Amino acid sequence: MALAEVASLRSEDPFRKVGAAALDWDNRVIATAYNGLAPGFDAPSDFWDDRDGRQKFMLHAEVNLCSLFKRGEAKLVATTTMPCTPCMQTLCAYGIKEIYYREAYHESDAPAIAKVYGIKLEQVGGLAV
Ligand SMILES: [Zn+2]
Repeated sequence: MALAEVASLRSEDPFRKVGAAALDWDNRVIATAYNGLAPGFDAPSDFWDDRDGRQKFMLHAEVNLCSLFKRGEAKLVATTTMPCTPCMQTLCAYGIKEIYYREAYHESDAPAIAKVYGIKLEQVGGLAV
């Protein structure tokens, strides 16, 4: 979780900074990521002014994280915020078995998805994981 927190500090988003870290089956850190724009995109200076308008362009931390490893390579993901529904689906597709998050996200269907697929989804405080 500490690695996820540090990764979140790199986010360019002034309103919402989310970070995530992935561990493999030997508990080695294989990836860290944060929410942001597509690689190589240089945002114009007024890009961040429209908080709602920019949302569809933001790539979530979990999606960026999954772009860094192959399916089945990561066992555990720690993320600063509970994955949203599409991110939870993405984590399932990548074969993640355990997910720890700090902040709850009440609009997310992640708890229901985790239950059906038998994935451990657990809230942890601060730097606990
Ligand atoms: Zn998401």
